[in-house]
Amino acid sequence: MKQKEIMLNSLVNGKKITLSELSSEEIGKNHIMTSIDTPMKADAFKLSDDEKMNKIEFHFREIMETLGLDLTDDSLKGTPERVAKMYVKEIFSGLDPANKPKIALFENRYQYNQMLVEKEITFYSNCEHHFVPIFGKAHVAYISNGKVIGLSKLNRLVQYYAKRPQVQERFTMQIAKELQNVLQTEDVAVIIDAKHLCVSSRGIQDNSAATLTSFYGGKFANETTKQEFLRYVEMKTQY
Ligand SMILES: [Zn+2]
Repeated sequence: MKQKEIMLNSLVNGKKITLSELSSEEIGKNHIMTSIDTPMKADAFKLSDDEKMNKIEFHFREIMETLGLDLTDDSLKGTPERVAKMYVKEIFSGLDPANKPKIALFENRYQYNQMLVEKEITFYSNCEHHFVPIFGKAHVAYISNGKVIGLSKLNRLVQYYAKRPQVQERFTMQIAKELQNVLQTEDVAVIIDAKHLCVSSRGIQDNSAATLTSFYGGKFANETTKQEFLRYVEMKTQY
């Protein structure tokens, strides 16, 4: 079971280092991946969505007031409530396993045994170090082990894991491992091509930098198969 994962951001100045060697400021800068699982508290789902929204609304109002904003202003007064709802119901809804897409598999009746590539899946996520957007394209592929998955489910799985505070390396691995689990095969590949607003809109303010991460499991670790996948990803679609 050969697997190769390339994690561009887990290297600092070209050498691998463990998390404990870094200060939190450096972790923020370099986006070191800690684990495939999103770090969650044991009591993460003790509060209902409504209770979470009330709490976030209260604290977001505190943040705005601390910044000196006048919350009696017409334009600002609804913001804490809007942000709370957006966090819980939209952009961080993928933290709740109850929102995980239900995946139905089908028998591979047509005996299609080549790779299937779903490319240019647009996603919007948020960086867990700065809580600003990460967005880009995901390209996923698998070779059927007797089961096939509905195409839209590939897209939905990407969206589910995008709707969490993320680092790109973990995002890549979570999609890949989930697909391997669901499809009962090692033969899965994922490429994430993304822009991080924490790099372009603040900090180093590099507007042209892109971050690429990839996962090649099973047959995709084979150079010929990997190259075929990369060719499909690069191929310009005709519509
Ligand atoms: Zn960031």
